[in-house]
Amino acid sequence: MARVEIRKLHKHYGDFHALRDLEITMEDGEFVVLVGPSGCGKSTLLRMIAGLEDVSDGEILIDGRVINEVDSKDRDIAMVFQNYALYPHMTVHDNMAFSMKLRRAPADQIRREVEAAAATLGLSDHLKRYPKQLSGGQRQRVAMGRAIVRKPKVFLFDEPLSNLDAKLRVKMRSEIRSLHRRLGNTMIYVTHDQVEALTMADRIVVMQGGVVEQIGSPLELYDRP
Ligand code: ADP
Ligand code: ADP
Repeated sequence: MARVEIRKLHKHYGDFHALRDLEITMEDGEFVVLVGPSGCGKSTLLRMIAGLEDVSDGEILIDGRVINEVDSKDRDIAMVFQNYALYPHMTVHDNMAFSMKLRRAPADQIRREVEAAAATLGLSDHLKRYPKQLSGGQRQRVAMGRAIVRKPKVFLFDEPLSNLDAKLRVKMRSEIRSLHRRLGNTMIYVTHDQVEALTMADRIVVMQGGVVEQIGSPLELYDRP
């Protein structure tokens, strides 16, 4: 679990200000959804929390430590992307094992963790398959499995369901919520879909044009008389 603090955060690309003066605190174990129209800065913020993008000004702290000062391999952050980003030439098992292999984890530990993640995600029967032999929903589960085996304190999702059909999106929403209940870690989830935000979030951050417009629980934001 981890507390994520965004302090006076700015991001500009040349003269263009993608994010201005963001102030957000995400509590330990909270499920926070960042919502807003395309181009409002959601992915930029997520990529900055992941350390994939430099901070122009301000700070991002995870459990009180400024992220830029923490070595990337010690950051305990995992991200799930819209396009899954699986390795096509590797089996489901090897896709999930890859980051542990890179960190030279012992083989029996890798097998245990991968099997546990596969069981959690209903992928146990598919470990020997290749990504192209899987449905979209199964691929997205593999992408989540790959993140789970790293046991991240912070779990980032960038529009993970937008390539799935409507019926599967609804199913995967509740799967991700139940994953959150089981893991109990801090999850930050980007979407442009208000329904997704309402049904999944503990707290919603509404962004618009690079600034935070509103922050609150689904009830606080949408159920006012
Ligand atoms: P969202 O995820 O909300 O759709 P993004 O965070 O992807 O929005 O982008 C926010 C704004 O920053 C957009 O106007 C986008 O064009 C711009 N932007 C994002 N990345 C870059 C970049 N590398 N260079 C220049 N502009 C960028
Ligand atoms: P998404 O809409 O899924 O968030 P985008 O298509 O906006 O993703 O961005 C994909 C990549 O292109 C990102 O890495 C982002 O930094 C980069 N990008 C987005 N907008 C711009 C831009 N105006 N100029 C340069 N790079 C950009």
